[in-house]
Amino acid sequence: MLRNRVKPVRTQNSNVVEERDRVERALNKRIRELRCLYDIASITGSTRLTLQQRFLEIVNLLPRAFQYPEKAFARININKDEFKTENYEDTGQKITADIFVNGQKAGAVEVGYTNNIPNTGNHLFSKEESLLMDALAERLGALTEHRQVEQRVKDERDKTQRYLDLAGVIFLAIDTSGYVKLINRKGCQVLGYKENEIIGRNWFDNFIPRRLKDSVIHVSQKVLSGFSEETEFFENPVLTKSGEERMIAWHNTILRDEAGNITGSLSSGEDITESKHYQEMLQTISDNSPLGIYIVQDGKLQFTNPQFQKLTGCSQEDLHDRELLSLVCLEDHDVVKASHINTLQRESPYPCEYRILNKNKKIKWIMQTVSPIHYLGRAAILGNLMDISERKNLERKVVEYEELSKMKSDLLATVSHELRTPLATIKGYSTLILDYYARLDSEETKDYLRSIDMSTDRLAKLVDNLLDTSRMDAGLLKLEKSPTNIVQLIKRVVTEASIRADRYHIIVKSVKVLPKVNIDAKRIRQVLDNLIDNATKYSPPENEIVLAAVKTDRDLLISITDHGPGIPSGEITKIFERMYRIEQRMYTGSDGIGLGLYICQRLVQAHGGRIWAESKPGHGSTFYFTLPLMVKAKKKIRTGTPDEHRYQKVR
Ligand code: ADP
Repeated sequence: MLRNRVKPVRTQNSNVVEERDRVERALNKRIRELRCLYDIASITGSTRLTLQQRFLEIVNLLPRAFQYPEKAFARININKDEFKTENYEDTGQKITADIFVNGQKAGAVEVGYTNNIPNTGNHLFSKEESLLMDALAERLGALTEHRQVEQRVKDERDKTQRYLDLAGVIFLAIDTSGYVKLINRKGCQVLGYKENEIIGRNWFDNFIPRRLKDSVIHVSQKVLSGFSEETEFFENPVLTKSGEERMIAWHNTILRDEAGNITGSLSSGEDITESKHYQEMLQTISDNSPLGIYIVQDGKLQFTNPQFQKLTGCSQEDLHDRELLSLVCLEDHDVVKASHINTLQRESPYPCEYRILNKNKKIKWIMQTVSPIHYLGRAAILGNLMDISERKNLERKVVEYEELSKMKSDLLATVSHELRTPLATIKGYSTLILDYYARLDSEETKDYLRSIDMSTDRLAKLVDNLLDTSRMDAGLLKLEKSPTNIVQLIKRVVTEASIRADRYHIIVKSVKVLPKVNIDAKRIRQVLDNLIDNATKYSPPENEIVLAAVKTDRDLLISITDHGPGIPSGEITKIFERMYRIEQRMYTGSDGIGLGLYICQRLVQAHGGRIWAESKPGHGSTFYFTLPLMVKAKKKIRTGTPDEHRYQKVR
């Protein structure tokens, strides 16, 4: 361009000189322009200056590129900022070019001359100067755009760095050779180094305990090879500046460039040193605890300690994912459910006691408290339990003992009352006979003696019943069994009872021949006497009392029916309990202490039979009892005398 402007040199000297001066001026002007452009280019490319500083420098450089630099001024307006030379004044002699940023007008650059410039007509500014202005305006626009993008990138980077620094976890980026590219504030804190002491250093050489270096490098290589599934989560200790080791749980991802090539790895790490120690401590406590410990989620066991496994007799594998309730006795399911629900609602421990069935089907009493916890990120229940079977047994014994003591004192009270009545009769009549013997006729004496006799019988019976009960309770009841003809026995009992209770019609309805039964005749007679005496005692005189005996498939069935008041259905089984008497009848004058039927039941059961009553209140009652039949023993097992082995009890 410069060359084109140089015109051919004329031959005349003056012309030559003139032409040379003109060319020289033009050349100087171009050099100034070029220098100015060069300076402007180096300013726009400079990174040490802010955008504002660059604009200021440029505005001061600009006049130099123009024809009359000493009289020129310049101004740049951009985005409400103004940069101008000191000599700036708003004269009409100026040239302007608009600055566009992102396609929008953002300002203008202008160069002008102070008013004392000689009037050069229409061409105050050359075409090149006008082109320079356009080029400069474009350059300033591009510079602003570039700067804005740079600023945005920087802002983003700062924001990310702030996030990384704020995060409670370590962020670490290393390249494929293991050199640290990024570490956040938390990472520096954990390692005890400053950021510049970490960045650029080899991670494995400097921050991993030597003994673990190879294995950690191995894992890192796996991560960097892209097959990171098994190494996505990884735990390893790091070495801090003070030489301490801290356990970090890493989450690893790989970094790629735009072409998709792996450039390194980015890991987020959590310092789990304390929680690891805590975890180990809890593990030790749980392993050695004398308490059974479990964790339940959705009703299923997720964790059990050795003591719990011992209590249930099941292995850890057997118990995992098993319903807790499957170990609990059916009757106590509600107790356990309620304890869990209450715990979750109140969020506080809730104690309860229940029974479990261990692997050997043995019942164990458990006392437990449960607490709500979080386990593996979800709500769960932690149960602590201990075996209280021993205590429960003792408690039961205490209750039994208390019941027994109460019964004994009740018995004493009743017995002393019942003893006193016949004793008073005996004492009264015997005193009467002694005092008035001479004046009494023989009939009167006989009457009094009969009363004494009856009261003595009553006393004797009472004492017998008491003795029998104590013997039975102490397990000292002995039966002397022998094959017995029951029909004959019943007839004998009825004959004697008819004498005792001569105002009743006691009759026997039975087939003549029934098989013999192996019984203690004295004791079965006692049962029959008792049932007949009750029938007479509780039904009005002149009534019929019927005894019957029949053979069934497996036993003999004996029944005693009366037409007395009957027994209310609610009490039909209770009357066999020890010292149970039907309330209203205790005051009708009929004596007794509620031991008769209890003794009957124990005696029948000792013979392998059953006893029960059926009744229609108002119409009478029937008492039944069974006695097992005997079967003939098989020939081949007979070794003793024929009589000894002829019969064998039917089971
Ligand atoms: P007790 O010494 O009171 O007769 P038992 O054990 O023989 O004691 O009888 C218990 C209770 O059963 C009696 O108190 C009586 O209320 C009721 N009972 C027994 N036998 C009969 C019967 N044949 N008819 C109606 N009630 C009866």
